[in-house]
Formats: sequence, structure tokens, C-alpha cells
Amino acid sequence: MNCFIETEKDSHFPIQNLPYGIFKTNDNPAPRAGTAIGKYILDLSVLESNGFFSEVFKSRKNVFANSDLNLFMSLGSEVRKNIRKILQNILSSDNPALKENDSLRQLCLIDSVKCEMCMPVTIGDYTDFYSSKEHATNVGIMFRGKENALMPNWLHLPVAYHGRASSVVLSGTDIIRPKGQTKADDAEMPSFGPTRLLDFELEMGFFIGTGNKLSAPIPVDKADEHIFGMVMVNDWSARDIQKWEYVPLGPFLAKNFATSISPWIVTLEALEPFKTKKVIQDPEPLPYLRSKGDWAYDIKLDVSIKTEKLKAPFILSKSNYRYMYWDICQQLAHHTVNGCNMRTGDLLASGTISGPDKSSFGSMLEITWRGTEPVKLPDDEERKFLLDGDELTITGWCQGEDYRVGFGEVKGKIIPAV
Ligand code: CA
Repeated sequence: MNCFIETEKDSHFPIQNLPYGIFKTNDNPAPRAGTAIGKYILDLSVLESNGFFSEVFKSRKNVFANSDLNLFMSLGSEVRKNIRKILQNILSSDNPALKENDSLRQLCLIDSVKCEMCMPVTIGDYTDFYSSKEHATNVGIMFRGKENALMPNWLHLPVAYHGRASSVVLSGTDIIRPKGQTKADDAEMPSFGPTRLLDFELEMGFFIGTGNKLSAPIPVDKADEHIFGMVMVNDWSARDIQKWEYVPLGPFLAKNFATSISPWIVTLEALEPFKTKKVIQDPEPLPYLRSKGDWAYDIKLDVSIKTEKLKAPFILSKSNYRYMYWDICQQLAHHTVNGCNMRTGDLLASGTISGPDKSSFGSMLEITWRGTEPVKLPDDEERKFLLDGDELTITGWCQGEDYRVGFGEVKGKIIPAV
């Protein structure tokens, strides 16, 4: 696929990607939809108003001129696929429509350094799964011992909890150290104050494009048609608050103070070439959870930390999304199997993604084994959990033969409790 805009081999945004996001500029502060291409953002609202998408959108107006992608997402996977074809055609070296139209190009092709990314979606509901077997096993061993690491339900259903959509924030938003109630094992009474065990969680999430009616479950083999695309997620967690509060109803204030997402949503079409074989599920899930395809996505994941002292970011973990035990279609089928309805813009996250060994664990809790094995950083620094001033960055990409389909990054800096 030849694009008239040159992209570097390690660029996350070649013509094979074309993710969707919302951005604004100084010249035009109205948030609007764009796609990333190399170092540029292509303003889709300008292309729309110039009639490039009229064949697909028909009489619909201003699909890309909104401050979120929800209307576009609600139009379904066929519309999305058709828009992708048009975009790849517009950007192709053989097509003069944009390539040789200087005035149009100046209007719609904007250097990304001049753009500020905005929240891409108005999120109605947010659910966080717990779908990495390695993560669930690690946490289980730490809290319950090796014999009872996985709860009896874990291999039979994708465990999850309902999070808060209100505190999902865009990459780059500072994370204020939350306060809460904790209780040390040897203390008689709980105490209140800033969390001392602030952690990140390496996750990915997917957005619902088209939902389902109440009482009308989404079957597992139709689930992908309802999914718009994926983002990187950091589910910030306060381990000491979590430990005291989670019995018996699960995570609450230890989780809902902030969840960061990356600004670009990578579509399932862009991820399609990177399907790989999924881990074997044993025991076989119940029929409603049996996927038609036996695939996972091969997405390389990197977590790095930058402290106030460190000169360059330090890699904390290298993982891969293909380690997930439950896939996105199973998660969505399970979430709706009781009739629960999804709506356009709902966010469903994977849960912490951990690989088979310490170099691929997805949280400080696991990397430092509850703080008992601190991470050694350059210049004699070490970390058990995150300190004020630390900046965490998660990035992910699929590696093609001579190109990447990437997610950009999700980052956040810890600032002191107020
Ligand atoms: Ca989580």
C-alpha cells in the first residue's frame, strides 16, 4: 500500500493503521475527528464537508464534526470499513484528489505538533475484566497462597467489575495520589491518608461501536461486529486501599480515582493482519463462550518509568496482548449473556496483562512481588511502588514486515496528594 505521505518504518501510524481520534488546534479550537498518518493528522471533518464520504454517509451531515466519535461509532462496522477504504484511496500515491490539491491539503493535513488530542469518546459505562491468567495467578498466590491462586470460577468465565466512566482520563492527564482508608495487618484500627502503594496496571481496552437491546445478548460469534476498536489503558490502582476494601464486593475506591487511555482508537480492521493463535483454554468454556475463531492479537507492549532523577525512561516490562486467556469476543458475549445492554461508547478493559515471567508482568505489585523485591533503577534509585514525580508510559504496536500498526502511548505523571 503506497501512501503519498512518507512514514518511517517504526511510525505507529502508516496507511495500514488509520486510527480515529478527536483533536483541536489553535487555529480552530473546535474539537473534531481526525486520523493519524505519519507525523500528520488528517482532519476528517474537512474531508467530509468536501464530500469525500457522501456515498457512505448519504444524507447524514457532520458525522466527523463532533467533539466525540460516538455518532460515527454508532453507524456500525460496515460504514467504518467503507470509510477506511475511502481514506486509504485518498492517501494512495496513485490518487491525485488530495495529493495534488494544495489548498485542500493545507486545510486538512495538519502537523501533529500543532494539534492537541482530546477525549475521543463520550464513555457511558466502563467495565474492567481480569482476563490474564498469569496476572490472576500471581495476585492469587500473593493474597491466598499457591494452592488457591485461581478462584474456582476463573477458568469458566471472564471475571470483571463495573468501574467508573467519569474518571477515565486522556493520556497526559496528571494523576493525583488518592487518599483513602487503609489498615495495616498489625494495626487495630484503620487509618486515613494518601495511598502508599500506588501502582499502574498495563491493560488494553475496546470500545463498543453498536450496542444491543436490553435482554438481547450479543452472541460470541457476532461480538466483533459490535466492537469499534482498541486503545491502551492504564488502570491506576491503590494497593493498600484495595487490600482493605475489596472484601466481599471487589474493587471500589482503590480503582476509580483515575483510568488513563491513549487518544487514538485502532480499529479491528487495522489489527486483522496481526491475529495469532490463542492460548488453549482448558477446560473448554461453556458453549456460549466458544469463539468461532481461535485467535488473539499479537500486540507488543512496553511499560517505562521516568523519575525526577532519571535521564532516560527505564523499561519496567515488555509484554504482549496475546497472553490474554479470555478474548474480547468472549468478554463481550459474557457481559451481555444475562441481557445486560451495551451502548455506543462503552469501554471494556482487559484487566492487567501479565506474561509468563517477571520481565513481562503488568504491575508493580507483581514486578516487585508486593514490594519485597524492589526494582533497581539507574543511579542507585529503586522502586517498590510509584512515587510522586514518577511518569509512567505504556506503548503498544503490532509489527508488520516493514511497518508497524501502533497505538501511540498512554502516559501519566504522579503528583502529590492534595
Ligand atoms: Ca484493572
